Amino acid sequence: MTDTRVGPPLPHMPDDFSSVLVIVAHPDDPEYGIGSAVAAWTRAGKRVGYLLASRGEAGIAGMDPSVCATVRTKEQEAACREVGVESLVFLDEPDGRILATPQLRTKIAHEVRRFRPELVVLLNFQSTWGGRFFNSADHRNLGQAAVDGIADAGNEWIVPGARYDGVGHIAEFGADPTHRIDVTDGVEAAVASLTCHREYLSALSDEPVEQQARAQIDSTLTHEEGRSYLGFRLYG
Ligand SMILES: [Zn+2]
Repeated sequence: MTDTRVGPPLPHMPDDFSSVLVIVAHPDDPEYGIGSAVAAWTRAGKRVGYLLASRGEAGIAGMDPSVCATVRTKEQEAACREVGVESLVFLDEPDGRILATPQLRTKIAHEVRRFRPELVVLLNFQSTWGGRFFNSADHRNLGQAAVDGIADAGNEWIVPGARYDGVGHIAEFGADPTHRIDVTDGVEAAVASLTCHREYLSALSDEPVEQQARAQIDSTLTHEEGRSYLGFRLYG
């Protein structure tokens, strides 16, 4: 995403949190941009976990889903290590058929209660990317289920168990940003993290995987006075 706005830069996102849960639909969803913020946060001592709805088993053309699930799980584990993620959980929803059901909301609520994040990061779950390309059903449905599951975590009657209502902010990456984060210290780790999705990226393009990863991460950043910034749409 290239910043073509004129006028003053976006305000800095508040830094009043010490734990972050990234909730997304597929392996590689965190690595296409969020990873630079994750690396900056873990370097600063914040606790970060990833919660993935699926194993992305329908994501590689010509590769049987049972094989693909194993490949992509391993790639995701390696990607997490590069940016210091301490917890990786898969909910094993069906890739390509994720629905915002009460059951999925309940699973997300349980994970939110377990990890106790103060910030939740989501991938764009609007209907389009910048008004130009349609977003996928999985991204739309998972984002909505996450928002609702976070609310459910705060109600012991909707989801039995001890309530947790400590999520102070939700930050959405890939939607029209309202705030920015200085991710300068996390950029190289983010490139390394995306590079871990080697089989997935190799299937998408003949371009060397490292080159694809660096171009993708660069496309998400804005720069000012030698620092790199990532934008988020902030709620709460
Ligand atoms: Zn995805």
